Formats: sequence, C-alpha cells, structure tokens
Amino acid sequence: MSAQPPATHRPLVNIVWFKRDLRLRDHEPLALAQQAGLPVLLLYAFEPSVMAAPQYDERHWRFVQQSLADMNRQLEQHGTEVLVFQDELLAVLAQISARFSIQTIFSHQETGLKITYDRDKAVATFCKANNIAWRESACNGVLRGLRSRKDWREHWYDFMAKPQPRVDWTKWQGVIAEDLSGFKNLTGLASPPNLNFQPGGESYAHAYLKSFLANRIQLYSKSISKPLESRRGCSRLSPYLAWGNLSVRQVYQASALSATGNDTLPTIRWKHQHAAFGSRLRWQAHFIQKFESEDRMEFENVNRGYDFLEKKTDPSLLEAWQNGRTGFPLVDACMRCLHATGWVNFRMRAMLASFLTHLLWQPWQPGAEWLAKLFLDFEPGIHYPQWQMQSGVTGINTVRIYNPVKQGQEHDPTGFFVKQWVPELRNVPENFIHEPWKMTLMEQQLYGVVIGKDYPAPVVELAAAHRHAREILWGMHGDGRVKAENGRILRQHTVPDREAWAGTKG
Ligand SMILES: Cc1cc2nc3c(=O)[nH]c(=O)nc-3n(C[C@H](O)[C@H](O)[C@H](O)COP(=O)(O)OP(=O)(O)OC[C@H]3O[C@@H](n4cnc5c(N)ncnc54)[C@H](O)[C@@H]3O)c2cc1C
Repeated sequence: MSAQPPATHRPLVNIVWFKRDLRLRDHEPLALAQQAGLPVLLLYAFEPSVMAAPQYDERHWRFVQQSLADMNRQLEQHGTEVLVFQDELLAVLAQISARFSIQTIFSHQETGLKITYDRDKAVATFCKANNIAWRESACNGVLRGLRSRKDWREHWYDFMAKPQPRVDWTKWQGVIAEDLSGFKNLTGLASPPNLNFQPGGESYAHAYLKSFLANRIQLYSKSISKPLESRRGCSRLSPYLAWGNLSVRQVYQASALSATGNDTLPTIRWKHQHAAFGSRLRWQAHFIQKFESEDRMEFENVNRGYDFLEKKTDPSLLEAWQNGRTGFPLVDACMRCLHATGWVNFRMRAMLASFLTHLLWQPWQPGAEWLAKLFLDFEPGIHYPQWQMQSGVTGINTVRIYNPVKQGQEHDPTGFFVKQWVPELRNVPENFIHEPWKMTLMEQQLYGVVIGKDYPAPVVELAAAHRHAREILWGMHGDGRVKAENGRILRQHTVPDREAWAGTKG
C-alpha cells in the first residue's frame, strides 16, 4: 500500500526543470513559472542513463555541479534552491507526484542526443497520463518542427532582439522547505575541481563575457586559427553556452551594446571583430537547427549517398589518434591538450576530424563520440553537423583535407604549442618541429628524441594518404546518389543566399 495522500490533499505546485540552461537570467521557463502564480519547485536531475552515454565524461558533470552550486549560492538570498536529484527524471517526477500535485512543468526545449530525445518522449507520456501540462520554451532561437529555412534568419534576429524575460525574485514563491525534506539525493557526485578546465557557473560565464568584450575581442580575428593565441583571443564562451550558463541572446545583446559604444566599454574601434564574432553566434543556432531538424546525424551520414563509401575501423589507427600518438606533432598536441583542458579552437578541431576521417580513412562516428567526451563544451547540435561537414559526407560543402604539417607551420610556426603538449619534442628545432621524422638519426639523438622509440613514427605516409582521400572524395561529389540527396539537404538545412549571410557554405 502506498502512503501517498489523495490528490485533493497534495499541495499544487509548478516545476521548473533545468537541463542545459543552468542560469537564473534570461530564462523564460523561470519567468513563466513565476507568472503562473503557484509555488515553484526548481529541479535538476543527474540521470544515470544520460551520464553513462559514451559522449559524456566526468568533466561535463563536474561543470554541471559547479553551475548548480553557483545558482544555489544566488538563490540562497531568496530563500529557495534548485533541488538536485541523482535519478532518472521519470523516477524523480514519480517521487514528487507522491507529495505534490504538479500542475505544469516549465523547461527549455533540448536539441539533444537520442537518449535525451527518448527521455523527453517518456516525460511527455508521463505528463499526459498524469494530467500535467508541459510547457517548453524555445532555446536560443532554434525552431522545433521546422520544414524550411525560408524565414529562419529573420526569426533569429527577432529572437535575439527581444527583451530578456525577468523574474522578480523579491516575489518568488518557492515550495515550502519542510515539504521538501528527504528529496535531496546526491551521493557519489562529489567531483573535485580541476584547475585545467574552465569552471562552470553563471558568475564565471559573465566574467568571461566581460573580459572578452572589454579587451580580448581585439585579438579575435588574428588569433582564431592559432592553437595557442586562440586560448586568449577567442571568447571561450562555448562551455557556458553549451550548458546554458549564458543564453546566446545575452551574449548577442552585450556584444551589440559594446560594439555601438553605448556601453562604458571602449570597444567601438573593434567593429570588424564584433562582426566576425557575431557571425559565430549565428552559426551556433544555424548548426543546432540542422540537428533539430534531422537528428539521425548522430548515427548516419546526412547525405545517404555516402553510405556507399567504404571505411573500416582500424583499432590501432583509431587508438593512436585518440591518445595523441600519431607521429604528427600538431595532431598529437591538440589531442593531448584536449585530454588535459577540454578545449581547442575551431581550426584544430576541424583538423583533428579531417585527419581521422580523410588521412587515416576512418569512419567519423567513433571520432565524433571521442571528441564529444573530451570537449567540455560538447553541444550535440553543433558537434554532429560539424562532424558531417568536416568528414565530407554532406555533399553540399567543399571537402577540406587539412595537412597537419602545413597547419603547424602556419599556425604554430615556432612549435611552442606542440612543445607544451608533446614534451618528447621539446628540444627539436623549429625547422623540424612539425616533421621530426625528417631528422637524421644523429640529429634525433642530438635533440633527445629517437623517432619510433621516444616518439611515434608517422602512422601514415602523408602524400599517399592525401591522394587516396582526395581521389575518392572528389569522385563521390559527382556520384548520382550523392547528387540526388543534395537538393533535399539544401532545402532543409540552408538559408537562402547562405554564403552571403553566414560567410560559410554551411
Ligand atoms: C569537429 C567539430 C566539432 C565541434 N564541436 C563543438 C561542440 O561540441 N560544441 C561547441 O560549442 N562547438 C563545437 N565546434 C565549433 C567551434 O569549434 C567551437 O564553438 C569554438 O571553438 C568554441 O570556442 P569559443 O567559444 O571561444 O568560440 P568563439 O569563436 O568565441 O565563438 C563564440 C560562440 O559561437 C559559436 N560558434 C563558434 N564557432 C562555431 C562554429 N564553427 N559552428 C557553430 N557554432 C560556432 C559557439 O557557441 C561559440 O561558443 C566544433 C567544431 C568542429 C570542427
């Protein structure tokens, strides 16, 4: 027999369910919950099934924990808190329903992996069966159920220009504390901080935004492709946007204010940097919209014509790439840097994806899963469409096969970044740092690194691997099966006049 009180005796509440929107400002579900007038229960659930997905790692859950701690620090002064559970969401809702009568759940829409999509479908069924309304707010301008991109860009600008929803915390009605006793269940999640990673939380997010707009943005364009300089010159807002410590609208509006010089920040002279940064903010939703509209991209080639491309996983090549032991210094440095810090810049990400799929001729799926686990900013809606593009299976984008030696010579000419992450090469002179295998044995001994012993010999022969990939991929471009899919992909996933708008062929 359950001890559950009859429905008429259970207090009525509304819920705000936090997911990848871990902030208190510009948060429509919070504002709507307040307007609805009932006491509100704020909740987050660490769901074991989601945490166990191969794309996730301890680094992600530590960031979430830090974000929740930051929110709860702020909420303390308003006498409320986010209740944090470690259970499947349906089990959490069942627990809450035993004590309260839930009227409405407010949340943001999530453009997520299949596992969270299936969870959302189960939540919808639960709500229907229990007569609970579920009100989902659009997230960062991404539209659900969209069939064509015809008016998408106008919609995006409108969304970004709208006022940010506000909560009057002085009038907040939380669920009374006694009613919540016994709900907290957070065993086994205490992850110690790791100073190599950006810390989670709304406060850090705003500090990064402020320092970028006040100063670092002046370095943006000239550092964006460089593995070392980008660490300071890029905004580094990606984990904060991916986990929702900031909304894109907050960033867009702050950037616009700062660019026009109406703010106190002296940034008017960095207009073209603001323009370059603004286009990246548009790409955020542009890419997520692709995944929202076609989420099979998590598993399959968006262009089915490429299903006929033959690629077999070679575990030794995959492992060399995963562990930063390919013998190509820039590739290995980027991979090791990701293991240690969770972030490299766009160009290096594209090179890693291209290296695995083109030069090592490996399927993209294991690579996408691996980098998701390493990227602190893993955002399914950007990640999977980017992998499709970089591995050349969209049919509508120019295929780029990055040469890791050339990338190193152009973007890390002194080898400073390489030496930081591949200490075996620390004494190798500049002229050999990106091609250490070209040193004679005597030079190798002189510089303290014998190739094949202290540092791996290249796992593939670059010129031959490049030729092989180029011939097959360029041949595929004209393939009837690939072309047949191109029209659909262009209609479904690109905005009219796409190159002019996005500065990309995305
Ligand atoms: C294979 C591959 C996988 C990627 N996976 C992710 C991912 O999981 N999560 C993620 O946030 N980014 C991903 N990116 C895009 C990009 O590399 C990162 O957004 C960027 O490096 C983050 O650093 P930043 O915040 O300093 O970027 P900034 O250049 O300062 O840009 C600001 C914001 O704009 C958005 N943005 C920037 N570049 C892009 C882009 N090319 N496409 C879409 N949005 C963009 C991001 O939200 C970013 O935080 C991926 C790129 C590649 C090539």
